[in-house]
Amino acid sequence: MSSLIDHLQAKLGALAAQDLTRFLREAESPTAPHQIVRGADGVARELLMFCSNDYLGLAAHPRIAEALAEGARIYGGGSGASPLVSGHSVAHARVAETLADWFAPHIPQARALGFCTGYMANLAVVTALGDADTEIFSEALNHASLIDGTRLAKAKVTRYGHADVDQLEALLYASPAKLKLIVTDAVFSMDGDIAPLPQLLALAERHDAWLIVDDAHGFGVLGENGRGSLEHFDLRSERLIVVGTLGKAAGLAGAFVVAHSTVTEYLLQSARNYIFSTASPPAVEHALLTSFDLIESELGKQRRQHLRELQQRLSIGIEKLLKRQPGLAWRLAPSSTPVRPLIVGGNAQVMELAARLERQGLRVPGIRPPTVRKGEARLRITLCATHTEADVDRLLAALEAAAADMARISA
Ligand SMILES: *Cc1c(COP(=O)(O)O)cnc(C)c1O
Repeated sequence: MSSLIDHLQAKLGALAAQDLTRFLREAESPTAPHQIVRGADGVARELLMFCSNDYLGLAAHPRIAEALAEGARIYGGGSGASPLVSGHSVAHARVAETLADWFAPHIPQARALGFCTGYMANLAVVTALGDADTEIFSEALNHASLIDGTRLAKAKVTRYGHADVDQLEALLYASPAKLKLIVTDAVFSMDGDIAPLPQLLALAERHDAWLIVDDAHGFGVLGENGRGSLEHFDLRSERLIVVGTLGKAAGLAGAFVVAHSTVTEYLLQSARNYIFSTASPPAVEHALLTSFDLIESELGKQRRQHLRELQQRLSIGIEKLLKRQPGLAWRLAPSSTPVRPLIVGGNAQVMELAARLERQGLRVPGIRPPTVRKGEARLRITLCATHTEADVDRLLAALEAAAADMARISA
């Protein structure tokens, strides 16, 4: 056998020894709370899912499917080229105009630029703006794509502690850099808490810095009209640069950057991930216009309200259940979003809990290091507006049964 294969097998073996092996499952039906999924044994089962980021339940909405089909009839399949060559369609332009309008109350001279994924958009913004004259101040719990952006950027990179506004202020104050960029998730994807954006923006104003906000989990969910964390906090500044993703609450795929038009023009001229990558399929852009309609419609408002009610129900239920099992050192993360992690601790323990839930017909993923800190492996419970109260109660009952068994075994 070649030495490369041996080398990789040894590394895979080391992951397995730490209970860190990941594996794929195959879904046979649309993304929805009740989904047909083939497990590792190849058998298809209907599972009650608490894992997708389709927070408004739009991925399976019939109007989205119809809009995609209509878009395909108008524009066909792929875009055929990068945006600056020939991949930019009327649909792409309309999506960008809609987003620019949505963010106009929050960012003066707002203009939007589209990307195929949030990962790409984050790499683009952080590498294009993080030049050699710049110091990047990066929040400790940022998403992997922002971290990768800081690794590729020419800027000096300084990490600050989670939500540690005081530490950030001291770092900004001490920095001699010509340009300063603060980079943060708006909603932390594995914790569900919201960054202190008003304080971060105040620091940006005071220290002449820019604030990049990754709103992957806020867009569609937060704010009266679902426009995300800037609407939630009612922020306005030309220093704000927002990245949003369209594969989560928007139910489709893609991403955008909205910022002052000079910033977006600079990205268009210089971001390698924008210039050298094929534009998204125009049918997807066409369908995004329908998704935006749904997000700001009465249906969107009702779904956001229902989500908040489910969040409350789940948290109260889990707190009660944890009180009944004081032997388990589990805790609920202090989240105020549909991401509601239950922190369990060890890798093997969280995978055991996830497996027990799956045997009861529920899929709630266990999240292990390096995605989260060592010793903080967790069940990442996500709620969608298409869940019912009965779905949440079923999760609570299954958790209760698993917790009682696991407390008995460990006692
Ligand atoms: C999902 C996610 C991304 C990446 O977006 P994709 O469109 O899935 O590539 C970026 N940032 C955060 C915080 C995310 O959760």
